[in-house]
Amino acid sequence: MDSPKSSDLDRLRNAIHGRRDDLIALTQDLIRIPTLNPPGEFYGDICDYLDKRLSAAGFETELIRAFGTPGDSEQYPRWNLIARREGSRPGECVHFNSHIDVVEVGKGWRQDPFGGALLDGKIYGRGACDMKGGLAASIIAAEAFLEIFPDFAGAIEISGTADEESGGYGGVAYLAEKGYFSPARVQHVIIPEPLNKDRVCLGHRGGWWAEIETFGEIAHGSMPFLGDCAVRHMGAVLEKFESDLFPAMASRTTDMPVVPEGARQSTMNINSIHGGQAEQAADFTGLPAHCVPDSCRIVIDRRFLVEEPLDQVRGEVEGLLEGLKAERPRFDYALREINSVLPSMTDRDAPIAATIAGEIAQVMGKAAEFVASPGTYDQKHIDRIGKLKNCVAYGPGILELAHKPDEYVGVDDMLESAEVMARSLVRLLLIEAV
Ligand SMILES: [Zn+2]
Repeated sequence: MDSPKSSDLDRLRNAIHGRRDDLIALTQDLIRIPTLNPPGEFYGDICDYLDKRLSAAGFETELIRAFGTPGDSEQYPRWNLIARREGSRPGECVHFNSHIDVVEVGKGWRQDPFGGALLDGKIYGRGACDMKGGLAASIIAAEAFLEIFPDFAGAIEISGTADEESGGYGGVAYLAEKGYFSPARVQHVIIPEPLNKDRVCLGHRGGWWAEIETFGEIAHGSMPFLGDCAVRHMGAVLEKFESDLFPAMASRTTDMPVVPEGARQSTMNINSIHGGQAEQAADFTGLPAHCVPDSCRIVIDRRFLVEEPLDQVRGEVEGLLEGLKAERPRFDYALREINSVLPSMTDRDAPIAATIAGEIAQVMGKAAEFVASPGTYDQKHIDRIGKLKNCVAYGPGILELAHKPDEYVGVDDMLESAEVMARSLVRLLLIEAV
């Protein structure tokens, strides 16, 4: 098809903005289902809600439980929903993937975290921006597109998936393993995470989490020379990190446009440290016994770039520890890997990235910004397990509000990003479909 007439695109725009009240109600309904993770509550309820909504819009739906994945139980089943609407002729499939879970509420709220209050054009609640607002925007985009362009090529899919906030193993990872994101079935994936309505997120950094333990020898605290202090050995590890590892990480450059700027390099957080006697409860009134600690443990959270192979990330830390073992008397350690996630980055000129960037420019009248995320999200599973590279995150909501008290999503932002999503469907399922 030739470019749709500008009057058709105006009708599409009107169809989206005419759904303003519907979009607000839909977002509020989603927020009012408190899908807290952990433990993974009400996944079945929200999937039933989405099932009804999307069935009514002509989608074929499938409810899929990720049996046996972490946290799945009869009490907290890991439910996922995939809805697919076929076009009238063959073509490519555009898939919108949103996670249905939200993180704990935390302190400091002035609004009801599950009330969905609408104040001043903003809808408040846990998950409003991360990412029930994005899910609602994608549904409105698809419904408006179907109303104006019922005769399209290919297919539209919308999924609501479990457990993204805890790694996505009972959600996108499970579905990818079952073939739901195979390139034969799906050709384009948009994840409406809250990356701001004028930015296309190409991917995310990797993560490597490990525990390091240093060993010593217990002895009486008045004669530490008769033992060996594991905490002092850990002090040597931390000094090495300061003198060698942190400067080395800071010196590396990357092609990844990570935001915020401070995350545009490798980073490492020391998540916890513990050595010696176990800490006692706050109401314990006794005094400590005098011992030289024979063990000290830290947990590290190392985030890495697409230019750094995981082996190198791991090897760099191992190399420092081995160096200490060679030079420091009685130094010994254990390194235990906890988890790892590889970085993912889609090319700027991949079809889905270029399409969304082009439509952002049309709708907002300015060039789209390409960004990458400091933390990981479900793109890793679509890329590594699903083998589908043509995937980006694009959605309304301010990234910095995610997981914060009084989280909200702006209604105008949702409408504008829904317009970008719907126009992207026009481009991929009408203009470029032959
Ligand atoms: Zn999210």
